[in-house]
Amino acid sequence: MSELFYQTAQELRAKIGSGEISSREAVMSCLERINAVEPKVQAFLTVTSQEALAQADAIDKRRANGEALPPLAGVPIALKDNMCTKGVRTTAGSRILDNFVPPYSATVVNRLEAAGAILIGKANLDEFAMGSSTENSGFFTSRNPWDTERVPGGSSGGSAAAVAAGEAPIALGSDTGGSIRQPAGLCGVVGLKPTYGRVSRYGLIAYASSLDQIGTFGRSVYDCALQLNAIAGYDPLDSTSANVGVPDYTHACGKDIQGLRIGIPKEFFEQGVSAEVAGAVRKAVSQLIKLGASIEMCSLPHTDYALAAYYIIAPAECSSNLARFDGVKYGHRTNELAGHIGLTEKTRDEGFGDEVKQRIMIGTYALSAGYYDAYYKRAQQVRTLILRDYQRAFEKFDVLATPVTPAPAFKVGEKADPMAMKLADVCTLPINMAGVPALSVPCGFVEGLPVGLQLIAKHFDEETLFRTASAYEQATDWHNQHPNL
Ligand code: GLN
Repeated sequence: MSELFYQTAQELRAKIGSGEISSREAVMSCLERINAVEPKVQAFLTVTSQEALAQADAIDKRRANGEALPPLAGVPIALKDNMCTKGVRTTAGSRILDNFVPPYSATVVNRLEAAGAILIGKANLDEFAMGSSTENSGFFTSRNPWDTERVPGGSSGGSAAAVAAGEAPIALGSDTGGSIRQPAGLCGVVGLKPTYGRVSRYGLIAYASSLDQIGTFGRSVYDCALQLNAIAGYDPLDSTSANVGVPDYTHACGKDIQGLRIGIPKEFFEQGVSAEVAGAVRKAVSQLIKLGASIEMCSLPHTDYALAAYYIIAPAECSSNLARFDGVKYGHRTNELAGHIGLTEKTRDEGFGDEVKQRIMIGTYALSAGYYDAYYKRAQQVRTLILRDYQRAFEKFDVLATPVTPAPAFKVGEKADPMAMKLADVCTLPINMAGVPALSVPCGFVEGLPVGLQLIAKHFDEETLFRTASAYEQATDWHNQHPNL
């Protein structure tokens, strides 16, 4: 049996329920692990030890009183630090929110609390979720637990690293262009980006609102299903959340995939994907065939345009969303006496990092009179073409299978060129443009570093993702391997 800190949420919940361990013990095992490995991994911006222990004791008391416990009772969880937590500092990885303590919690935070989960800390990210490595964090760079000279991916790199390192069994992240699946792939854990609209974003600090979606990290497919059960569903506080029923996603785990039709979009192997990564994905696909699936090559012809269109739409929406950080209502305010307009200018100059500033400028330009039609409108038209590619593919297939990233984790500082960094998401961001759900599951190692298999399904069909990924997981041993820290 693995150490307590490497147990899954499913195992911890069962043991807490039966009284084999207390919730306090589960929380302590994570806090001790954080103490031991955090100097190397640097996954957390804030660790909420005291609050977590108090909540654990409350759960243990409820159990002692014979109360029926909710599905995540006593299970520790980490949250990407762009989700508002009442009374707990929330930075979005930006100096401009260095000391921001939200007066309310995000809907996902309230739902996790209702499910009995225990917040143990807020995980590092690229500033406002813009990036693929956590190197754009205004605070520090998190490290890949498999090789601490390398990045954990991003932007939800802190969440992925924490789960891979045993600092938390499960975590939430957000995914606008790959920010859950890419770090999950690079850290060797499972990551799910649900359908756009599946999970409420109320209280998620917005980056690009037509693409942002909250999702889950776990060391097993089942643990992602458990979390989605807790956070999915309609929320009147987010007008983009869909009023679509929420099944019990854990029921999709452990089913067979006999007769499942899998499409392999050829464009995804032409995006600078390394031969080793392509090889690992091909092996994974052979495994799926052995399990009873049928495979056919297919084409999503507009895939090539996704990156260019994404990098118009996302900065355009970011420039609008980040206008609220003006030094007046909350967050950092310059100390200089600079007059009314100067106050905003100086505050933003001091508070935002270079990548964020660059995107605000590009986005403002793309939305300005005279350029709007040439850039923003055309990018939206391309987006419709991409969506149609997926709709057509899902007339024929239940699932599409691709690599998650072109290569395994790169070294800290290696991708100084912003374009090279953006290419790290070339396999993930087309999916956000279409709004469909996708999941990354560990499918092997390249030179000792984990790589992932991406599975994509039609809108609101997360169940098929869980079913396929859990069948694959049960037939392989990748998820049982842990980094040597
Ligand atoms: N790396 C992409 C970007 O910088 C995606 C980030 C994300 O999904 N939040 O926009």
